[in-house]
Amino acid sequence: MPSGALEGKAALVTGAASGIGQASALLFAAEGARVSAVDQNLAGVEETARLIVAAGGAALAVQADLTHADQVLAAVQTTANAFGQLDVLFNVAGGSGRRWGDGPTAECTEEGWDFVLAVNLKSQFLCCKYALREMLKIGGGAIVNLSSILGLVGGDADFATHAYAASKGGIISLTRSIAAYYAKDGIRANVICPALIATPMSQRAQADTNIRARLSQLQPLTGDFGTPGDVAQAALYLASDRSRFVTGAVLTVDGGWTVV
Ligand code: NAD
Repeated sequence: MPSGALEGKAALVTGAASGIGQASALLFAAEGARVSAVDQNLAGVEETARLIVAAGGAALAVQADLTHADQVLAAVQTTANAFGQLDVLFNVAGGSGRRWGDGPTAECTEEGWDFVLAVNLKSQFLCCKYALREMLKIGGGAIVNLSSILGLVGGDADFATHAYAASKGGIISLTRSIAAYYAKDGIRANVICPALIATPMSQRAQADTNIRARLSQLQPLTGDFGTPGDVAQAALYLASDRSRFVTGAVLTVDGGWTVV
């Protein structure tokens, strides 16, 4: 009987109430990890934990606004205390700042910039900061940070949210700095850059007939949105010992967006 890829590991997944984070929490648990599902949406993480436990796994639901250091520290400590260790961090929580005025640089509001940088980049910095302290205690770990293809390539008018792009570019730089510095400590850090994935966050794009009509050109591999499971499978690889010699990698999960 083959054991799961994350057997014996304790994993913290942020954004686990919904979409990519929830799919990843469920997959990690199915692959043997004890999973701490962290999100600002308490009902959502409680549902994720319930699904994991119902499937025979071990899970914890933790509510935290990850833009606040004290709440991140508490979430990490609660996880490490419950599981006795923290081996894996998958940073998924984040969002769009369109409603706060994110847009092309000449129009992007200061409020939009501050909101997006906090929710996407500061949150990942804080989670890495406190998770690294736990990983250093046990002599290793794996961090997977969720960026976006918009952290790699500029978007045209349909995807012109420059604070979002800057936050996702910052995640790549932060992750590669962590990878370089903590390699000697046995800690790996890698990035995933998805293109359009069908989740609550991409509802605007899913409802936009112009964007739907462009999908065969934007994501030619399927001509459709990716699924949360597509990203979760990539995260599973980077979180597990199957990628034990991989660090600092930037893995696109984009149906071909960045190669055409
Ligand atoms: P989603 O809206 O389903 O999930 C985002 C989760 O993050 C939600 O559960 C939300 O409550 C949580 N969250 C937001 N701010 C938070 C905060 N301050 N503290 C704690 N939790 C918070 O969307 P999704 O698409 O599954 O995941 C979003 C992540 O995926 C983001 O990092 C986004 O940039 C990235 N991403 C998504 C797509 C896409 O097309 N869906 C593409 C590329 C990257």
